[in-house]
Amino acid sequence: MIIAKTISEVRTIRWENPNLSWGLVPTMGYLHEGHLSLARHARKNNDRVAATIFVNPTQFSPDEDLSTYPRALEQDLALLARENVDLVFVPADNEIYPPDFQTEVHLKQVTQPLEGSSRPTHFLGVATVVAKLFNIIQPTRAYFGQKDAQQTVVLKQMVRDLNFNLELVVCPTVREPDGLAMSSRNKYLSVAERKAAVVLNRALTAGETAVSQGERSGDTVRQIMRDIINAEPLARLDYISAADPLTLVELGQIKTGVLLSTAVFFRTTRLIDNLLIERI
Ligand code: AMP
Repeated sequence: MIIAKTISEVRTIRWENPNLSWGLVPTMGYLHEGHLSLARHARKNNDRVAATIFVNPTQFSPDEDLSTYPRALEQDLALLARENVDLVFVPADNEIYPPDFQTEVHLKQVTQPLEGSSRPTHFLGVATVVAKLFNIIQPTRAYFGQKDAQQTVVLKQMVRDLNFNLELVVCPTVREPDGLAMSSRNKYLSVAERKAAVVLNRALTAGETAVSQGERSGDTVRQIMRDIINAEPLARLDYISAADPLTLVELGQIKTGVLLSTAVFFRTTRLIDNLLIERI
């Protein structure tokens, strides 16, 4: 496994043999089974696999956890080596954002609701850094987790709008045995909060059950999920949503598919989760 710190090293390795397909797995590190599942999907369907580890400062707002975001580079590299990843790009901040950097990738509607309403500059940072990683590595396929549902919608839109020549693959959310979606931020939770955090999946599953039993009112489904989260004393609801999976607009009536999603605070730790019902 080659560890590259510069864009020029990555480009040299990427183009040694232009006939090989490359799968890209972008991450912020502190890897868990969710990340590794993306690497495994990439390994199955590509000649070469590249992962990136970069805690992207531009997707954090000044009041968020950039400085405390968990890092474990040596452990991450060992995990990626075990998955037979070929190349890991670990750039310094100034390799990605040199002092004269001035271009941003701004998407309109799909970045506004949900995460966008709570974190207004988040997707500006995400889209910009992912566009750069796409241009640096020029992968055949790029792998993202359903865990960050809005991110997949935003990035698919960006791929279409900017004509990136790659296939964006969305992989299922990997969960702990009790249903909590794996996340690097789960590390911030106290023992009591960790127990309580299962409420996200419980609420989403209750919403899914209601829909599968014939409930078609978006308001009713949102209320079912909201009540479950509000009943958990350690949880503070940020948003609850039953939205169109493509436009992310809140649904009045559920007619075809629905994306159920939520963001919940446990003290200062903010967790997100979702369930996608593609067809009812
Ligand atoms: P992050 O390091 O949090 O930026 O995540 C890097 C990639 O891993 C993103 O595409 C995430 O959606 C994906 N990911 C994070 N957690 C999970 C999970 N529990 N299951 C599947 N994919 C995940």
